[in-house]
Amino acid sequence: MQITVLGAHQIETATTRCYTILIDGQLAIDAGSLSSSLTLEQQGAVRAILLTHRHFDHIKDVASVGFNTIGMRTLEIYCPAALRDTLLANILNGVVWPDLSVSPSPNTPALQFFPLEVGQEAEILGYRVRALHSMHSVPTVGYLVEKDGCSAYFSSDTGPGSAASWKQIAPQLLVTEVTMPGRMAETARKTGHFTPELLEIELRDFVAARGYCPRVVITHINPLYEQEIAGELEHVARTLSARIEMATEGMRITL
Ligand SMILES: [Zn+2]
Ligand SMILES: [Zn+2]
Repeated sequence: MQITVLGAHQIETATTRCYTILIDGQLAIDAGSLSSSLTLEQQGAVRAILLTHRHFDHIKDVASVGFNTIGMRTLEIYCPAALRDTLLANILNGVVWPDLSVSPSPNTPALQFFPLEVGQEAEILGYRVRALHSMHSVPTVGYLVEKDGCSAYFSSDTGPGSAASWKQIAPQLLVTEVTMPGRMAETARKTGHFTPELLEIELRDFVAARGYCPRVVITHINPLYEQEIAGELEHVARTLSARIEMATEGMRITL
């Protein structure tokens, strides 16, 4: 599996992009920067998106990449049914944007939704995908993606309590988040995000249960706090003797 981080940050600026992961150029996790990061040809090569939750920074490019690639193929979208309904009611509603699940024509729509709920598994483009519960302020799923003996778990936005899901699996790679530094722990708890210290608690829980620490890649970084987070994560990595890296836009990981 060739994993590319298209968006490694919480917010979009001239130098940072919103959360999006692309696997082998064809399977995306979330769509915070799926159109802004890719050429039109690359957008057309994306065949399926796994959506984690309804927040704008994760779903905004469903509308653009769906529209941009009309006629190239039908783009498959996997997510809980409630998330599909939210998108169809509020974005792809014929008011803000066309309902791309029935246009340009119901027989060959730009997008096709497939419900995937917490605890369910699906075979998607030859990958085994399993949805697990993430600990965020709105219903959120993380995805375990496995192929050819390689496995990676993408938690998306999540916070304290995450290890309850992580302990059910044994991924080689954990792509999770740290949005803010330790001094903002109270905000992080309230909004369902990690600080480095809060992440450390969950990693310790995972290691106690599974006996190893996976390679950890950190996304959803708020650029305002990037240096502070980096310093605190170095401390966590040393304490746990773990490999923990901050993602950057364009970062590639081969499993
Ligand atoms: Zn969120
Ligand atoms: Zn987010």
